Amino acid sequence: MLKEKDKKIYVVGHKNPDTDCICAPIAYAYYLRKKGQNAVAVRTGEINPETKFVLKYFKLDIPEILKDVKDKNLILLDHNEKDQVPDNINEAKILEVIDHHKISFFWPEPVYFLTEPVGATSTIIAKKFFQEKVKIPRKIAGILLSAILSDTVVFRSPTTTKEDIQEAKKLAKIAKIEKLEEFGIEIKKKKATLKGQTSENIIFSDFKIFDFSGKKVGIGQVEVCDLKEVNERKEELIEKLKEICQRENYNLLLFIATDIIKESSQLLGTGEINYLEKAFSKKVVENVLYLPGVMSRKKQVVPPLMKVFQGS
Ligand code: MN
Ligand code: MN
Repeated sequence: MLKEKDKKIYVVGHKNPDTDCICAPIAYAYYLRKKGQNAVAVRTGEINPETKFVLKYFKLDIPEILKDVKDKNLILLDHNEKDQVPDNINEAKILEVIDHHKISFFWPEPVYFLTEPVGATSTIIAKKFFQEKVKIPRKIAGILLSAILSDTVVFRSPTTTKEDIQEAKKLAKIAKIEKLEEFGIEIKKKKATLKGQTSENIIFSDFKIFDFSGKKVGIGQVEVCDLKEVNERKEELIEKLKEICQRENYNLLLFIATDIIKESSQLLGTGEINYLEKAFSKKVVENVLYLPGVMSRKKQVVPPLMKVFQGS
């Protein structure tokens, strides 16, 4: 019989992977191996150009795809929502969850569950290394730092906390990255463009499905360095949203384009728009809503929406 500690543990991020949910698992699996566990980082989907750049920069391999979860030991990182977990999750064994999103988790057995309202899961992982005095190799420090810069939009997002900045600075020293701001923008720019992508790819590139009081709400988000790119393709994107909304039975389907330089968002929406108008106390004009100062789906879009759905 295998001893509990010999069993392989798969550390996995959410669907539609972003940099945080690829890098935090790589780092955490490394940490667990240092603690004598048999852990490996895996992913559930294609990685984006930003993450590819980060892994290449720090000379790390792209994690394997987790194909079948049946009877596997999983640790979920950077998500806890049921629509973001790997398929057939009920056939797996969840050991632990580490996340920085709102809690929407149910599991029939006891699990370790760690959430902190910080800007990145990688911040929580970095803290673990420092607290437990596990030496962080340069590569691992580099990807944790990159993930923090990515998730916090180089500390511009309102999700940014003192801890993110504090951990990032410590990691930067180890990773030998001197110009944090410049390095962060360089990372963000790898993905912050719609060029060469179909409207469907753009909408689904960072897409999350939510259950708001029984209503199915989908919210895609992209970051751009200039909203002009989005406005030029507005009609095409709205048409595609309408098509997806019908095809996949969304009550509300949203697409947020966030200008990371001007720190504001252009929101395109289809479906039950009345919820959107109520959430932001603003009229949606031809499926478009401009939201100055809004950068975070998690902190500035999901909470007001959830509230109006709950209140209805
Ligand atoms: Mn994420
Ligand atoms: Mn994250």
